[in-house]
Amino acid sequence: PEVVMKIAAGEVVSGPSSVVKELVENSLDAQADNITVEILDGGKSLIKVDDNGIGMAENELELSILPHTTSKIFSIEDLYQLKTFGFRGEALSSISRVSRMKMTSKPSESEVGTMLEILGGKIIEKKRVNSSNGTKIEIMDLFFNIPARRKFLKSDSAEGRYVTEIIEKFAFTNNINLTYIRENKEIYKFSSDMDLITKCLKIYPELKKDDLIEIEHNDSVYKISGVISQPKVGRNNRTAQHFFVNNRYIKAASLYSVLEKGYGEMLEKSIHPYGIIFIEISPDMVDVNVHPQKLEVKFTDEQKIASLLKKVVREALKKNTH
Ligand code: ADP
Ligand code: MG
Repeated sequence: PEVVMKIAAGEVVSGPSSVVKELVENSLDAQADNITVEILDGGKSLIKVDDNGIGMAENELELSILPHTTSKIFSIEDLYQLKTFGFRGEALSSISRVSRMKMTSKPSESEVGTMLEILGGKIIEKKRVNSSNGTKIEIMDLFFNIPARRKFLKSDSAEGRYVTEIIEKFAFTNNINLTYIRENKEIYKFSSDMDLITKCLKIYPELKKDDLIEIEHNDSVYKISGVISQPKVGRNNRTAQHFFVNNRYIKAASLYSVLEKGYGEMLEKSIHPYGIIFIEISPDMVDVNVHPQKLEVKFTDEQKIASLLKKVVREALKKNTH
């Protein structure tokens, strides 16, 4: 099913930012707490993710790019299933098929590391190398063998901006050392001990500490936490409003307006506050499968969450507005 495989690869890999997302998730899965991400030309020329995780031995490295499930994909229906329920074990193999890839890895129990070079999914070189513990993956020339896809990528700066947004989400949801280098410039260096407000001040340098207010609600069923901005501090759009459910980023159209309703009269017209908001809820009270990429969720009790959020925002503002 050569054609289906190519479609499948295209489904996982939409562009540089989705590659970065998959690679960093792998690093986190590998228990890394020190991750460096670097991109060139918006990620079109180079995406490099370097971690200090558990690493892979030679045979694991070779296995990691094999398609785990492609043998089972024969029909469009199968493809749909994959799209709905996620591509476990498909990211690296998909990425390797549409790029030039270099992988270097060493588990701590090995003396030496292994380096693989892969071109369009085929291993073209393998050698032993000296390397530190962990894994470094470099993706060069994304979509070099699918010109139609390459043409559909946005400008370097637009693709780079998407990558930056992904990095910011990882920073919000993980307390790790995370360094981000874009076009040879260090953009972020988050460290594992930074609190949410400190991270916000890095990501939004236009803010001062005083502009932000912490929110917190905790009962036996729902936990809501995060930071919001003072009513006079905001943007003319909602690009600084981010919601996470059980530490997973979601698109939550309805929650954006609930957040703003919490401000009530205080919010000036056409100002949209900052809000980095984490909702924790029992997994059986939220359905994450309503959207293929799982960005949209459906709560069993949407009303309750909305009223709690509004209340926690209103109360935090009442205590802290100046
Ligand atoms: P999945 O993450 O769904 O298992 P991937 O294609 O993303 O599938 O990765 C395949 C496998 O390669 C992983 O299951 C893991 O064993 C290994 N792997 C990938 N990235 C890393 C990494 N940074 N460190 C250690 N192992 C990794
Ligand atoms: Mg993965």
